[in-house]
Amino acid sequence: MKNKQIVLLGSTGSIGIQTLQVARLHKIKVKALSAHTNIKALQEQQKEFRVEHVCLSSVSPESLCYLAAIPNCTVVNAIVGSAGLKPTIAALKAGNPVALANKETLVAGGEIVMETARENKVPIIPVDSEHSAIFQCLSGKSGKDIRKIILTASGGAFRGYTKEQLKSVTREQALSHPNWSMGDKITVDSATMMNKGLELIEAMRLFDVDESKIEIVVHPQSIVHSAVEFADGTVIAQMSVPDMRLPIQYALTYPDRLPSETERLSLTALGSLTFTRPDHDTFPCLAFARNAARLGGNAPCILNAANEAAVKLFLQDEIAFHEIPKVIAGLFTKTEKTKEISLDIIESTENSIYKSVFG
Ligand code: NAD
Ligand code: MG
Repeated sequence: MKNKQIVLLGSTGSIGIQTLQVARLHKIKVKALSAHTNIKALQEQQKEFRVEHVCLSSVSPESLCYLAAIPNCTVVNAIVGSAGLKPTIAALKAGNPVALANKETLVAGGEIVMETARENKVPIIPVDSEHSAIFQCLSGKSGKDIRKIILTASGGAFRGYTKEQLKSVTREQALSHPNWSMGDKITVDSATMMNKGLELIEAMRLFDVDESKIEIVVHPQSIVHSAVEFADGTVIAQMSVPDMRLPIQYALTYPDRLPSETERLSLTALGSLTFTRPDHDTFPCLAFARNAARLGGNAPCILNAANEAAVKLFLQDEIAFHEIPKVIAGLFTKTEKTKEISLDIIESTENSIYKSVFG
């Protein structure tokens, strides 16, 4: 990355905090920070990194776009949810490269985001570990060189559970991921497997590949972060211990590889790695995502907003875990579909879903 200074949106979250660990290690200048509500943590970060601009997005959401457009910065988008869409576009329009963790942005408005990046000739470097892996496997090759993407999934907190067993799981169980410590929303998304559904669409947009070319494979150890198969049948995979500081650092130092504090991978200590097909019957969110991807238009946006609403209801103890897919399917069916997509369509689609759920 040519810019040695960053704007970090969502600095108090899981990705935000780990981004600051990378910035501390490599003495990367932090120009601006945003948090949604945790003002105390934000002030501490501001003090330590001597940050010039900060914003509390729950008070002034439009400030996110202002921060994202500060000249000559790389914008790390570590916001959760489609609230990250407008700041991503503001960054790209200002010519700022984006290190993107916020996958919901690419699900709700991926075509618009990628088009804006192309028009402004600005790179989007993925931070999501699977997409960072695919980006690394491609090493400069484009989507047309890909025969298949193998998108790996840990399987989440309830891998191996039956539909019946899912009926009695608790919020606490859903919030304890076996391999990664992450924010609440993505941890629940991993447990329902919707995270992999969102990542399928994220991969389609980032690498310009069709849904049919992406295979989802359950790999409980989270060592192979994803792989790409090329025309000759060669498969290149990227491996490391599961530690988000690696893809974050790579996004900030690309194309260079700098030292890191991450534990080293020992294949002999691991002994074996396993790969299985996902259980589509128990985890229907995967099929919901493929369906939305095939429909196109505002369907992925509906899927994302319906999921954000359902996860919120679950986290507020208003629905049980096994009801999440039912709520998503209900909202998906009843929301009006469009063939086209635009920022206005995204806004009205999301508003109609949130209104029907939260009043
Ligand atoms: P988190 O909940 O820990 O942090 C979210 C951050 O966004 C916080 O700083 C919060 O203040 C801010 N925020 C919340 N709501 C906001 C809003 N409406 N507007 C602006 N800011 C808001 O989440 P996280 O786990 O760090 O995940 C962030 C993003 O990165 C998500 O899109 C997630 O899917 C993606 N991601 C996370 C991980 C991970 O390991 N945590 C891995 C891959 C991808
Ligand atoms: Mg991921």
